[in-house]
Amino acid sequence: MLMADTDVVIVGAGFAGLYQLHRVRGLGLRARVFEAGSGVGGTWYWNRYPGARCDVESLEYSFSFSPELEQEWEWTERYPAQPEILRYAEHVADRFDLRRDITFDTRVTHATWRDDHWEIRTGGGEELTATYCIFATGCLSVPKEPDLPGVESFAGPTYFTSRWPHEGVDFTGRRVAVIGTGSSGVQSIPVIAGQAAALTVYQRTANYVVPARNAPLDAATQDARKAEYPTYRKLARESLAGLLGTPSEVSALSVTPEERTAAFDQAWERGGLGSFRQSFGDLGLTLEANDTVAEYIRGRIRGIVADPETADALGPKDHPFGTKRPCLDTGYFETYNLPHVRLVDLRKTPIVAIEPTGVRTTDELVEVDDLVLATGFDAMTGALLAVDVRGRDGVRLRDVWAEGPSTYLGLGIAGFPNLFTITGPGSPSVLSNMLVSIEQHVDWITDCLAALAGRTIEADEQAQERWTAHVAEVGAQTLMHHANSWYLGANVPGKPRVLLPYVGGVGPYRQICDDVAAKGYEGFRLTETA
Ligand code: FAD
Ligand code: NAP
Repeated sequence: MLMADTDVVIVGAGFAGLYQLHRVRGLGLRARVFEAGSGVGGTWYWNRYPGARCDVESLEYSFSFSPELEQEWEWTERYPAQPEILRYAEHVADRFDLRRDITFDTRVTHATWRDDHWEIRTGGGEELTATYCIFATGCLSVPKEPDLPGVESFAGPTYFTSRWPHEGVDFTGRRVAVIGTGSSGVQSIPVIAGQAAALTVYQRTANYVVPARNAPLDAATQDARKAEYPTYRKLARESLAGLLGTPSEVSALSVTPEERTAAFDQAWERGGLGSFRQSFGDLGLTLEANDTVAEYIRGRIRGIVADPETADALGPKDHPFGTKRPCLDTGYFETYNLPHVRLVDLRKTPIVAIEPTGVRTTDELVEVDDLVLATGFDAMTGALLAVDVRGRDGVRLRDVWAEGPSTYLGLGIAGFPNLFTITGPGSPSVLSNMLVSIEQHVDWITDCLAALAGRTIEADEQAQERWTAHVAEVGAQTLMHHANSWYLGANVPGKPRVLLPYVGGVGPYRQICDDVAAKGYEGFRLTETA
């Protein structure tokens, strides 16, 4: 048996990698973390676009593992902005003295299983061996390649929301084009409009956008939560989406139209991601129920946007509410009432090419100074497959997942011993408050490492097949397949169309994982290391 250079290699220093490092150290294991960026924070390190903020409330989107950390950290807003979340990640790194084991500006390029250990190679040429390898590489960390003809020919600056310059961008007096109206576009468009001389927004798919109702966080609210944190954290862990607020069990079709509108009005006023889920329980289950909320939101848009043609184009029609991630906004629809802001509906006039001076559609060339791409990510599998991962007998993860990912619980992969994925495909992950899911996975992996005591662990192929079938089966009971969403890989040309996250809910999923552990890691093979 080889004495590995380190016990654990962790890839990525976002919230997942940071917490995993802290827990692994607690076991007395040696660990190295590699991070492609120059600092900690992952998502909140890279996505510095104007208007970037969390769509889960700060008092919920925060770590629960340390009561001291919970008590000492002061949030300033209901939905914290990117700089504040990044400061929080940096505080966590400093408070728990994590940086000394993190190598920044270093991408892991290869991970190869060699009989009883992982051989890790970095872009800088470093090679090291580790008994265990944990991928904390993020679900939304690899920007989608822009599939826009001629994009490289644009003469002015091109900005990706997901790789925003650290020094910021001043759009004052500039003519700007934004392509993409997912969460990143919806958050950045009102802020860019506040600076630019002219803003043209290119929309392919209209999205459901719900008010965030962001506000400063008053001391009384924060103190009250701090006094009861354990209770609230427990509720979030046992919930379906890792969020507080009880989902309704009432059918949207069981009430009168007036009662339904009144419930939707309340949800709209409450704002936030889970607000409509608290109105009715079947919005995600039947098209008929879903149509009621879809029409309600289209009506709201018509009520805000003055130009009827623009209002109609902004109203989502081609997918049910909730089958793409709903966006939270601050003044998004109002932005289209500004005289210098224009929406181009790409369903009517598609982009033909990006040219050196601007964006050409089938209708016109709009000349712009700056191009902003809010075009999304190669989600959930992109970062894992960007690494050349080779398991037992040299088998490549890229080949194994050619038809879509197959995992056991989103935590392990058959044929890839001693490898763990945090919030991997097949787990609730992106359908949840991610901090809740990250803590759950890290805690489970840490307990597993302790139980292994150096033994080798590998997901059993049959258990993996059963789990993958279960993920698909539960997903098929929802409306998720009715949208060309990144949840299905449908946003990336050529990507297999498979529902990537597990829709069974955070609480039930946690129970399943705990049961697996309690039964001696049922569905995994544990062997003495040779
Ligand atoms: P990440 O934060 O993505 O960190 C992964 C890190 O791994 C990155 O820093 C990356 O550079 C590094 N990495 C990847 N591959 C390699 C490699 N091969 N070698 C070295 N380093 C590598 N979730 C919510 O629950 N609520 C929200 O409101 C919310 N808002 C979001 C807003 C935006 C703009 C985005 C993009 C995502 C948002 N998410 C949100 C999801 C968010 O990604 C998670 O909440 C969380 O931050 C993920 O943490 P992580 O550590 O798992 O991954
Ligand atoms: P996204 O949801 O995938 O949106 C990408 C947008 O770009 C879509 O409107 C897409 O249109 C458009 N697009 C992509 N390629 C295009 C092309 N070739 N031509 C024209 N339009 C194109 O990406 P995102 O906005 O970055 O958000 C991704 C996820 O990150 C979110 O769903 C969420 O989970 C997370 N996020 C959260 C927040 C938050 O509120 N805290 C903020 C940002 C991101 P189509 O829909 O037609 O493909």
